[in-house]
Amino acid sequence: MYKSLEKLIREIKMVQCVHSVKELREIIKPLKAQGKTVGLVPTMGALHQGHASLISTSAKENDITVVSVFVNPTQFGPSEDFDAYPRTLDSDLKVVENAGGDIVFAPSPKEMYPSEDMTWVEVTGNITKVLCGKTRPIHFRGVATVVSKLFNIVGPTRAYFGQKDAQQVEVLKRMVKDLFFDLELRVVPINREDSGLARSSRNTYLNAEEKAAAVVLSKSLKEALKAFKAGNKDVEALKALVTDIIKKEPLSDIEYVECYGLPGLYELDKEVKAPSLLALAVRFGKTRLIDNIILE
Ligand code: AMP
Repeated sequence: MYKSLEKLIREIKMVQCVHSVKELREIIKPLKAQGKTVGLVPTMGALHQGHASLISTSAKENDITVVSVFVNPTQFGPSEDFDAYPRTLDSDLKVVENAGGDIVFAPSPKEMYPSEDMTWVEVTGNITKVLCGKTRPIHFRGVATVVSKLFNIVGPTRAYFGQKDAQQVEVLKRMVKDLFFDLELRVVPINREDSGLARSSRNTYLNAEEKAAAVVLSKSLKEALKAFKAGNKDVEALKALVTDIIKKEPLSDIEYVECYGLPGLYELDKEVKAPSLLALAVRFGKTRLIDNIILE
C-alpha cells in the first residue's frame, strides 16, 4: 500500500508540476528532513537535449531533481525577445520526465516578483561587463537575482548549469562564493547537434538557411582549439582566426569574438598561458547565438 499520493507519484516517476513557492516548499521540506539530496536545474523552458543533459546529470547525482521553468523578465533588455521567447510547458514536462527529473517548478512572474519594489543581487566588475555584459547591461543582474531566489526557495544540495552559457557560470560561481550559498555548483558540457551547432531554445528562431550557416560557429572554435593545441598561444591571432572563418559566412554578423582568463574572466596579456575562455556572439538574421570553447 502506498502511504501517500506524493510517494505514489514518485514511484511511478510522474513529474509533478507546481506553480507556487509555498507548494514547492511543502513538497521539498519533508524530503530534506529525510536526508534526501536535491538537485536544482534552473531553465527558461523550451527544453531540448541540452537541458535534458543537465537534468539527467542531476538525476544521477541526487535523490530528487527540481527543474524550474521560468522565462525571467528581469534578465531581458527592453528590445530583447521576452515576449517572443518560446513557452512550451506541456512538452517541457515530457522532457523532464524522460530525463529523470521529479518536480517542475513553473511560477508566474508575479509569484517570483510579488512587488514592484525590487531586491537585486548584482555581481559587479569585469566579470559582468565583458562579453555579453557589454550589450546586455542588465542581463546578469536579472540572472543573479532569479537564481538567488530559486536557491532560497529550493535549498538545493547541487545546482546545475550549462557551459553553453560560460559567462553565466563564472558570474554564478562568484555569487555562490560571495554570498556563501551552501550548495555545489555543477557545470555540464555543451550539448551539440550532429552538425556541431550548440543546442539552444533560440535555434527555433533560425530558418533552414541560417541554421546551416550557424554551423560556422562551432567549426571556427574547433579550428582555434586545433591551432592552440598545435602551439599557437597568441590571443589576438586566435581571435582573428575565429573571426576570419566566421566572416566568410555571408549570413553572419559578429557581435564579439573574445578571449578571457579563467576563472573570473580576467584580462589576458599577449598569450594564453592558463585555462582561458574563447567566446563569441554572432547574429544570423535576427537571432543572436553564443558559443565558446575552453583553451587549456
Ligand atoms: P536556458 O533555458 O537557456 O536559460 O538554459 C538553462 C540551462 O541550460 C543553462 O544553465 C544553460 O547553460 C543550459 N543549457 C542550454 N543549452 C545548453 C546546451 N546546448 N548544452 C548544455 N547546457 C545547456
